Amino acid sequence: MSETEFAICPYNESHRIAVFRMPKHLVKCELNYRGPPLKICKYNAAHRVLDMEEHLKECPYYRRFMDNKCLEIALTTRTAPTQEDGHVVSTPL
Ligand SMILES: [Zn+2]
Ligand SMILES: [Zn+2]
Repeated sequence: MSETEFAICPYNESHRIAVFRMPKHLVKCELNYRGPPLKICKYNAAHRVLDMEEHLKECPYYRRFMDNKCLEIALTTRTAPTQEDGHVVSTPL
């Protein structure tokens, strides 16, 4: 039982490539590619798409990135000193 994940090569639908080999494959396949230029997703270099805006709507890596960002913001606001319950604690950050 192998757990290898396969993905479709963005340059050629008939290429089914193991996900871990995709970066290498893309470099090679890009050289033979004759179609319209594809944009490289900022959040996963293995994502090559024509329409980046459309792609970001469904890119799981982008979504994860945005989730992390929201988490970061939540954590930052939580550490803001809002102690108004009587005892003042001075915690040097
Ligand atoms: Zn390919
Ligand atoms: Zn992407």
